[in-house]
Amino acid sequence: MEILIVEDEAEIAKLIQLTLEAEGFSCRIGRDGLTALQIVREQQPDLIILDLMLPGLDGLEVCARIRQQPGPKDPYILMLTAKGEEIDRVIGLSTGADDYLVKPFSPRELAARVRALLRRSLRQAGATHTYQTQHFIVDLDRRTASRQINGHLAENLDLTTLEFNLLSTFISYPGRVWNRTQLIDKLWGDDFFGDERVVDTHVARLRKKIEPDPTNPTFIKTVVGVGYKFEDPGG
Ligand code: CA
Repeated sequence: MEILIVEDEAEIAKLIQLTLEAEGFSCRIGRDGLTALQIVREQQPDLIILDLMLPGLDGLEVCARIRQQPGPKDPYILMLTAKGEEIDRVIGLSTGADDYLVKPFSPRELAARVRALLRRSLRQAGATHTYQTQHFIVDLDRRTASRQINGHLAENLDLTTLEFNLLSTFISYPGRVWNRTQLIDKLWGDDFFGDERVVDTHVARLRKKIEPDPTNPTFIKTVVGVGYKFEDPGG
């Protein structure tokens, strides 16, 4: 797996490179947008870590150009943003980024996000149809979901189709922040008409079925002003 790091701050770029090389990935660094686009054309990385604030072309512009001129590989794009920048704009569907990470982030968090993205690419190639975390197993073929307690299978979860799809979406990508539009797109696609707050209703129902304490969720966290994310502590 080839990863391109696009970041003008040399120390951050180096830190990312060391983190990902320790995970066994091969990395290149591009220090500005135009160099990055050239490397994308020539080397076709699998994943691009793209800083939003770059000299010359900014990260959004680089992202848009990569998506406009798809090569043989359509790389995953993980956008880096500083706190206080318009996160909504970055994670909006229109940017074409697959995920984003807010600076400052820990190397561990970065590595987890990268692994999640690249696992997703393996899944899309049909490598596996089961998601497993510390507390949950979701089998997409059998359409079953179960919860584990202390490593033992505790119970099959009795979920509606919509709840199952919602849980699958969350668990396919632990740590990712989803806004309501993105969840609607996943769950209903173009068939959706109505108020996007309906997402909140389904999240509340799913929480009642999977959370030990639905009023103080462990797994499906609210991200204020944005939407939701799934986390499984320890897994
Ligand atoms: Ca920067």
